[in-house]
Amino acid sequence: MYRTHNCGELRMSHEGETVTLAGWVQISRGFGGLTFVDLRDRYGITQLVFNMDEDAELCQRALKLGREFVIQAEGVVRERSNKNANRPTGDIEIDVKTLTILNGSKTPPFTIEENTDGGDELRMKYRYLDLRRKSLQEKIIFRSELAIESRKYLAEKGFLEIETPYLIKSTPEGARDFVVPSRMNPGQFYALPQSPQTFKQILMVAGMDKYFQIVRCFRDEDLRSDRQPEFTQIDCEMAFVHQEDILNTFEGLTKYLFKTTKDIELGDFPRMTYDDALRLYGSDKPDLRFDMQFKELNDLAKGHGFSVFDDAELIVGICLKGKADDMSNKTFKQLTEWLKRPQIGAKGLVHVKFQGDGSIKSSVGKFYTAEQLQSWGSYFGAKAGDVLFILSGEAEKTRTQLSALRLELAAKYDLIQPGVFKPLWVIDFPLLEWDEDSERYHAMHHPFTSPKKEDIVKMESSDRKVLADIRADAYDLVLNGSEIGGGSIRIHDRALQERNFKLLGFSEEEAEAQFGFLMGAFEYGAPPHGGIAFGFDRLAAVMNGSASIRDYIAFPKNNQGRDMMIDAPAGISREQLDELYLDTKNPNLSAET
Ligand code: ASP
Repeated sequence: MYRTHNCGELRMSHEGETVTLAGWVQISRGFGGLTFVDLRDRYGITQLVFNMDEDAELCQRALKLGREFVIQAEGVVRERSNKNANRPTGDIEIDVKTLTILNGSKTPPFTIEENTDGGDELRMKYRYLDLRRKSLQEKIIFRSELAIESRKYLAEKGFLEIETPYLIKSTPEGARDFVVPSRMNPGQFYALPQSPQTFKQILMVAGMDKYFQIVRCFRDEDLRSDRQPEFTQIDCEMAFVHQEDILNTFEGLTKYLFKTTKDIELGDFPRMTYDDALRLYGSDKPDLRFDMQFKELNDLAKGHGFSVFDDAELIVGICLKGKADDMSNKTFKQLTEWLKRPQIGAKGLVHVKFQGDGSIKSSVGKFYTAEQLQSWGSYFGAKAGDVLFILSGEAEKTRTQLSALRLELAAKYDLIQPGVFKPLWVIDFPLLEWDEDSERYHAMHHPFTSPKKEDIVKMESSDRKVLADIRADAYDLVLNGSEIGGGSIRIHDRALQERNFKLLGFSEEEAEAQFGFLMGAFEYGAPPHGGIAFGFDRLAAVMNGSASIRDYIAFPKNNQGRDMMIDAPAGISREQLDELYLDTKNPNLSAET
């Protein structure tokens, strides 16, 4: 037996017991005729003690143990004289009688401690060492619990866990595909799924009724800190459901996961239409952990000779509470510069400061009287000490800019309390989204999403305004300003699906070639159905207040899409290229040139 206990479980109640532990040497140090070794495993750290007077040779061997050596130690549990209240095992130590070195270790390239000295790339290369650190272990363990609890909830609700293929067909809709050449079919390629969307719908046609899968998805997109080329979804689909059934089932899942993994009770989730989300927060994923709703000022601010406002489609602002006296002209200047950066692209920022002494200061004081500015303040419910921030211009862009400012102010002035969770359903998304570059419509969610029944007639219109107005039975689950899930009720009727493809600019032939199998299936008794997918990595991160999903993935890729540990992607041999019918003359294709 390698061990009788793990390194996190021994307490005073074990005093006097002979135990065997195994694990990694965190540190070994000598102190007045004693050697202390901190022995670590996934469960914790236990102190081992070796006594010079009892066994000098053993004590010397212990002193020579390097960091990360793998050892086994047998000894007796005893009370510690100087207890460590910060450690669950801090009341006891092991008086070691035998020591076995199971494996040595080179000196690790960075310290395996909470505040490690290793940089990002180095830690990714030695991911197995980084993963020994407690905070990373906790994240991977949390992820495991989240997966297991998801399965429990969904199984209890009658869902079947069904796998769908990873080698499928490339389609132009959505993000870029990763492709895999087929050796057996010269010149042909599989694509890795961006999601199991069409398969889960076919499973509904096949009568499976309730499906889920914790499944890898692949999207060849430019990477950001919260994106990975492969990521995991809790993917779900149900037959004979309305939107309401889906929202209830998955609100239930989210509450259950919070309860079981974090012991947090979430109340009922509020709902907001997509239109309201944009109007009130300038975003389809508003962060409701702090207030600052948008208010529109067109009626109050136009017609007073300030041409920037007079010419604007929209004048819209937010009110920051209680910070007026902290904000100097320099602060406003910095915020203005920040807003003018190309990433945001605002033209300027107007502020109105309701100072503690009752006076009002504004960057547009020349154009408006104190009474007029006061009326803006009343409209916002502003009191002495509050500041209004106002942007203007083209409506959609201005809302997006103000949304960015709202988030920036929340971060700058610590408006978000840690440990607070604010879920929100955003519903009634538009069916279509106009793309200026390609001059055609894209599906806002995906092309299988059903328009609302009452809006189906609008699909016959050629008026862009009418088409933009079509609402879908599509919904997103937003948590603390992150989209953690999204789905829709699907089209289950061939004619309507054909009509939708036509709106999206597919010719009949294209639609048939790419999605004929799905439309064919709709002709054999497809039940009404709908579903949702949760971004599993993101859910794990957001539930722990983290902005990045990387630490919640055991083996993530870096910003260039590289796996630093195995050094992928990499070239392949001429023989492999040949077998796959790839251009063997292209020197970039082979590692062997
Ligand atoms: N397949 C969709 C996605 O990946 C989710 C869904 O509609 O169920 O976003």
